[in-house]
Amino acid sequence: MRFEIITIFPHIFDSFLKTSIIKRAKDRKLINIKIHDLRKWAVDKHKTIDDKPYGGGPGMVFKVDTIYRTLKSLNKDRRKRQSIVLLTPQGKQFDQKTAKRLSKKDRLILVCGRYEGFDNRIKKFVDEQISIGPYILNGGEVPAMTLIEVITRLLPKVIREESLKEESFSFKSSINLEYPQYTRPEVFTYKDKSGKLKTLKVPKILLSGNHAKIKEWKEKVL
Ligand code: SAM
Repeated sequence: MRFEIITIFPHIFDSFLKTSIIKRAKDRKLINIKIHDLRKWAVDKHKTIDDKPYGGGPGMVFKVDTIYRTLKSLNKDRRKRQSIVLLTPQGKQFDQKTAKRLSKKDRLILVCGRYEGFDNRIKKFVDEQISIGPYILNGGEVPAMTLIEVITRLLPKVIREESLKEESFSFKSSINLEYPQYTRPEVFTYKDKSGKLKTLKVPKILLSGNHAKIKEWKEKVL
């Protein structure tokens, strides 16, 4: 899977790419991530990529011509199973089902906005529009990282398959959330606000060693 990101702030991704599962997936060549600075495709000496919106309104919007040139240039290397995704609050809300669908592609181009967003005509040159939730972020970079992280987890060999099977939003049941988990100590003792000693115990069934009963408990507990 090749992820390509179009952004005006390439350095935001520095530590994200060098950490944990994403780093390991890159090192093992299970994913490839390329970052493109949108300003590379600006044509004036000031490297302008935005302008004031027609009809007035606050802030600046990304110009259609710069994004068009960027996508045209990246499309020279077009793949059969690719998708150009515009990250925008007006897009379809991202979820595990969309992540599964996108994990079958072999190239995803993620277009990150900033400021007040995009000239609306940019939408003509993308395949889909995705929002990561009903709230406003400063830019599309955190949404891009969200998509990359969620999709990478679903790629073969990145995470152990049995870990994925029992994760929230992957169950076939209507509840679709993972059961509560516990680890040592078996009994946790703490003081409440009035200084009284209190204990929190691990549910007995999880200590029973009875795998059939534990499975039943996990399915019913939520
Ligand atoms: N003026 C825009 C609006 O009201 O819809 C918000 C622009 S936002 C400050 C700048 C950029 O951040 C957007 O163009 C988009 O790329 C990204 N962005 C912000 N919130 C997002 C979200 N929930 N999902 C995906 N992208 C988002």
